[in-house]
Amino acid sequence: MKWFVTGGAGFIGSSLVRGLVRDGESVLVADKLTYAGHLSSLKPVSSLPGFQFEKIDIVDFEALSAAIRKFEPDAIVHLAAESHVDRSITGAHEFIQTNIVGSFNVLEAARAYWSGLKGRRADNFRVLHVSTDEVYGSLGDEGFFTEETPFDPRSPYSASKAASDHLASAWHHTYGLPVLVSNCSNNYGPYQLPEKLIPLMLLNALEGRDLPVYGDGKNVRDWLYVDDHADALRLIVTRGRAGETYNIGGRNERSNIDVVHRICDLVDQLAPQSGSRRALIKHVTDRPGHDRRYAIDATKAETQIGWKAKQTFETGLEATVRWYIDNEEWWRPLRAQGHGASRLGLLPVGTHK
Ligand code: NAD
Repeated sequence: MKWFVTGGAGFIGSSLVRGLVRDGESVLVADKLTYAGHLSSLKPVSSLPGFQFEKIDIVDFEALSAAIRKFEPDAIVHLAAESHVDRSITGAHEFIQTNIVGSFNVLEAARAYWSGLKGRRADNFRVLHVSTDEVYGSLGDEGFFTEETPFDPRSPYSASKAASDHLASAWHHTYGLPVLVSNCSNNYGPYQLPEKLIPLMLLNALEGRDLPVYGDGKNVRDWLYVDDHADALRLIVTRGRAGETYNIGGRNERSNIDVVHRICDLVDQLAPQSGSRRALIKHVTDRPGHDRRYAIDATKAETQIGWKAKQTFETGLEATVRWYIDNEEWWRPLRAQGHGASRLGLLPVGTHK
């Protein structure tokens, strides 16, 4: 198959692309290479025959559309997004541009291309719009998000993703475009930028720096190992039904403070030094509007497309800590550029741009 992957130089996109290219698939990565996109994440497969890269901003409709027409994909997987909640709090402009206008462009460019396809190529063509469980809002102590949960986004990030999910669904209902939507819980694993919770904490723990935990640390997230998410995306494209939404999650609910404790213990075990890294934990002012709990019911994906997470939180977290210890050449330059130097989004200062 020929896969056109927007945002393929990012954290989840690069996991998907490494897997596809290694399996002999043909892939074109279309990525703007923002602060979050790094060709170093694609280095393991960039010299293999199935791999192509084009630097494209999805807000540029003509460039995007031309690249799709030229590559003639069987599937478009749309992951390009501004993805960091903290950054959306201090600067929402790029989130509106990329996540809403850019997603609209992806749908329109896909529709123009698809309308020119014939026979089985038209029937089998798929667009997968990749989204987040954060569109559903925040849960109390009980319950799970299902595909029927009403949207209730709370941050500029999740509101922009919810807007693009609605566009994707509308393009299916209005134009018949074979779009699928996935809503996934928090991902972690190799190649995640060190400003996100797990790599930030584990690198700070390795370097003996403070571990800044928001508020009381009792906010709960449902964690999924990134390669399990990539497997789900492939299955949704090849086995999912056009027009459907699939929730993806690892059934691994953990409070942030439990996650940080576990990271400290793993770093103590794998990179021993005197004293526990837990002593580095510092509680800092909470993120404004911090959602309390997310938890996904992934029954539909498990029963209808045969997906199941392979990693538990314990095995996935240990693999992640080992990867960061062994792959300093990937993260060291990013840390030097200031990624993960501190927590972001602590100041609710709205800037237009
Ligand atoms: P990321 O920030 O690591 O990567 C995003 C990629 O998109 C980067 O390579 C960046 O260069 C690219 N990009 C940004 N703006 C672009 C533009 N205008 N044109 C072209 N490329 C652009 O994000 P991620 O964590 O890999 O997330 C990928 C997708 O999955 C996003 O849509 C996100 O909303 C969704 N998602 C993420 C998580 C998570 O836990 N990380 C969970 C559920 C869903």
